[in-house]
Amino acid sequence: MSDNIQSVTVLSKTTWTPNLFSFTVTRPDSFKFTAGQFVRLGVNPSQLQYYKNNEQSAVDEAVNEDIFRAYSIVSSPFDEVLEFFSIVIPDGAFTSQLQHLQVGDELLLNTMPFGFLTLARYQKPEPKDLWLLATGTGLAPFLSMLQDLQTWQDYEHIVLAYSARTIEELAYLDKIQQLEADFGALVDDPAKLIFVPIVTREPMEGALTERLPKLLLDNSLQERAGISLDTDSAHVMLCGNPDMVEDTKETLKTLGFVMNRRGEGNIAVENYW
Ligand code: NAP
Repeated sequence: MSDNIQSVTVLSKTTWTPNLFSFTVTRPDSFKFTAGQFVRLGVNPSQLQYYKNNEQSAVDEAVNEDIFRAYSIVSSPFDEVLEFFSIVIPDGAFTSQLQHLQVGDELLLNTMPFGFLTLARYQKPEPKDLWLLATGTGLAPFLSMLQDLQTWQDYEHIVLAYSARTIEELAYLDKIQQLEADFGALVDDPAKLIFVPIVTREPMEGALTERLPKLLLDNSLQERAGISLDTDSAHVMLCGNPDMVEDTKETLKTLGFVMNRRGEGNIAVENYW
């Protein structure tokens, strides 16, 4: 095994929908990362209890090789465990195996974190508002950032807009509420986090219903957040569906926003797949 690969153990699993789940694993002492970064996780299907506990024929059919995929981390850099948020992709070699995960299973973690969707990419002085726009499992890096007190100290307002197709797919609502209360109290500003749920394929009370680019163009996201979105006062981060990232990025550009390069500019993006 390479020096960078360490074995980690599954500690818990939360199922949100038949296709969406989260899991936690042990965190190696030496593993450090910045909120918003990704890691490569590996699974060897033949080692999963799911196959071992099945008939011999199932074990024989299980692939006996390490399959790796990039995942962004949900948990904070200060947590003792690592948490991930995953979708089951039909025929996806990695995620279709991961759906069989059970507590006690062993995964492989490449301990070299990577990715640039971190707040450190913005040079100071900071604009006063942070806009975090996510679809689906693209929520993960923003949850990590929101568990870092520095994020709450650096911005006057933090808007988290999170779009899912159905109410059921809107995961982590309790956690978001908890972060709002806990960190809001720590910075003595209970209204600092402005959470805007968006459900696009069915009605939900209190949620917006259109896609992010439209919501930005017709100003309804800004109205709902209760603050304006200005080029000189906002950092905007996008993560999730590559089409959403592209469409929203282009929309923001028409509103005068520019991509962040070498510390300058508002927009930072990450495709989730
Ligand atoms: P999704 O289709 O990305 O939808 C999540 C939210 O993003 C919905 O509210 C959707 O709105 C919105 N959205 C989609 N395209 C958009 C755009 N161009 N601009 C603005 N908003 C947009 O849902 P998902 O569950 O994360 O993924 C769905 C499909 O992608 C699945 O078939 C999955 O297998 C595949 N996939 C996902 C991943 C992953 O890591 N999440 C990886 C590989 C493949 P609408 O309801 O209007 O579409």
